[in-house]
Amino acid sequence: MEWSINKGSHACFLCEKIFPEEEVYLSALYDVNNTFERKDFCIECCDKKDDENIFSYWKTKISKKPEKVERYAKIDVFYDLFNKLENEKDLSRVNFRYVLSLYLLRKKVLKLITTRKSSDSEYLLLHNVKEGNDTEVLKPQLSKEEVLAVTDEIGKLVNFTP
Ligand SMILES: [Zn+2]
Repeated sequence: MEWSINKGSHACFLCEKIFPEEEVYLSALYDVNNTFERKDFCIECCDKKDDENIFSYWKTKISKKPEKVERYAKIDVFYDLFNKLENEKDLSRVNFRYVLSLYLLRKKVLKLITTRKSSDSEYLLLHNVKEGNDTEVLKPQLSKEEVLAVTDEIGKLVNFTP
């Protein structure tokens, strides 16, 4: 599981301008009725975008040479999403957060302290290395295939290829 940036949607959602190589633009994740939708905006259109339902956003740059290091997703994007999903109850969000935590564990942004079982659920107790605090993640009953499906969904949303 390694999310890397692909060349994305190529065009601004508002003015439809095609992003040239090396241009920085803004990618925003909107929360629309509990579904995430991604839209990209050129710098000129940033002020005109609808800010109301933005869940998270980040800057993207189409790099000239798709070198491996450059293409790797910024951990910050996933870290931000992980934090914002903390109190979500919706099942797809819970799944989303769990898969993000697996990624952040691999990146050593989070450390596994222990697991805890309640009557009907299992939780991962994680230490957030960056913030120095602890957080719990509900471990959903996901098969390997389902984890891959969620990974794929996240990859499509943030436009990273798994
Ligand atoms: Zn634009």
